[in-house]
Amino acid sequence: MANKIQTAPDDFRDHIATVDEEGKRVWVYPKKPKGKLYNYRKYVSYFLLTLLLAGPFIKINGLPLLMLNVVERKFVIFGVLFWPQDFFLLVLAFLALVVFVILFTVVYGRVFCGWVCPQTIFMEMVFRRIEYAIEGDYTKQKALAKMPWNTEKILKKGSKAAVFLLISFLIANVFLAYIIGIDELKKIATEGPANHLAGFGSLLAFTGVFYWVFASFREQVCTIVCPYGRLQGVMQDKKTVTVAYDYGRGEPRGKLRKKQVRTEGDCIDCLQCVQVCPTGIDIRNGAQQLECINCTACIDACNDIMRMIDKPEGLIRHESEEGIAEGKEWKFFTTRVMGYTAVLVVLLTALTALLLTRDAAEATILRTPGQLYQQTEQGQIKNLYNISVINKTNNEMPLTLKLLDMEGTVKVVGNELVLPAQGIAEGVFFTEIPRDQLTGLNSEIEIGVYHGDELITTQDTKFLGPAN
Ligand code: SF4
Ligand code: SF4
Repeated sequence: MANKIQTAPDDFRDHIATVDEEGKRVWVYPKKPKGKLYNYRKYVSYFLLTLLLAGPFIKINGLPLLMLNVVERKFVIFGVLFWPQDFFLLVLAFLALVVFVILFTVVYGRVFCGWVCPQTIFMEMVFRRIEYAIEGDYTKQKALAKMPWNTEKILKKGSKAAVFLLISFLIANVFLAYIIGIDELKKIATEGPANHLAGFGSLLAFTGVFYWVFASFREQVCTIVCPYGRLQGVMQDKKTVTVAYDYGRGEPRGKLRKKQVRTEGDCIDCLQCVQVCPTGIDIRNGAQQLECINCTACIDACNDIMRMIDKPEGLIRHESEEGIAEGKEWKFFTTRVMGYTAVLVVLLTALTALLLTRDAAEATILRTPGQLYQQTEQGQIKNLYNISVINKTNNEMPLTLKLLDMEGTVKVVGNELVLPAQGIAEGVFFTEIPRDQLTGLNSEIEIGVYHGDELITTQDTKFLGPAN
């Protein structure tokens, strides 16, 4: 049987749902969602929020689970410390993440947006629920908005703003903890803002931004700002599974009338799916709409109606465009998916290999500028070097230096080199090599940096000697 063609006008594609013809914001008052999928989303969000809030306190080998200190250019991911010298590893990890996200989106659409994205989780599972608790469901919210500024409105709006501010401040603290680390954040709290003006200023700025986003900007983040949302059109295809309305079954839509034999499709035009939508769209206008974050609230709403009118659930469901239009069985392994998977496997293999072979420290050894070689009484040739070593671990390491693949000695000038945890050690040392070992004016030598008996890194450098 040929599928019926969608009958809704197509002009919704020319503008976003939350902006009117004059370019003014259309405020969305979504109906409080309920249903099986909403309950699952709640559980997922509780888990993710716990993880996010606990993250700064979790340490692996004394290092945070995640810290992205862009100010000091120090990054910790799963307890592994990365310095700017490891930038290529971060780039590779970022590329692998991008390919993974694209691959996931090609197959499952915007599941991330609706179920995992911190913006959606905070908006729908924290701020929106507080709003429902204080102002009531959507009809009451609309009435409150129209009300003059009386005691009730001042109390409700004021208490909502206070709670929103408090939560924004909490989120700002967590956000800052992921940048500077929980220990530095504790210092701001215990030593007072006057001693940490920059940190405290950032905290206030982040609080302001979060408050504005969740109290005012809201779904506009997903439709206007988020690059991931804007790129959906090029990542998805007809086989991508998204939240979709089965227009073949639903159209022509028509109100349910008592004592009348129904000739229309299963959609009774009750608009429940539209009322619960947090981005203010009508899913019946077609799948893969720019604003749809695949939150599944409309699935729950429609399933409720289907149960009520004794029709099978799933008029709105997770389905591919092809599945709805042609009733084709969904396939996971399409050519595009296989291509992305191959790229992802290559990237992950390279990343794992580089991480496993990464040295615990990184040394830079350069001949001291302006110094030529010296010749000792025993006929040895001597060069002076500067050394700088970066510690990529959280352990302090006393260091010794040895000449590799050549006879000779290394003598550190002054105190023993000690590499502080996550820090840098700098020093000066002499290298003495018998003249007969040298290959000419400039010989290649390799210095090994040891912690006890363990060779932690090596560095090649030049050794200056007589021409013959
Ligand atoms: S159309 Fe449905 S899935 Fe998409 S954002 Fe609206 S309620 Fe969520
Ligand atoms: S909730 Fe279902 S039946 Fe009601 S308008 Fe939406 S698609 Fe039609």
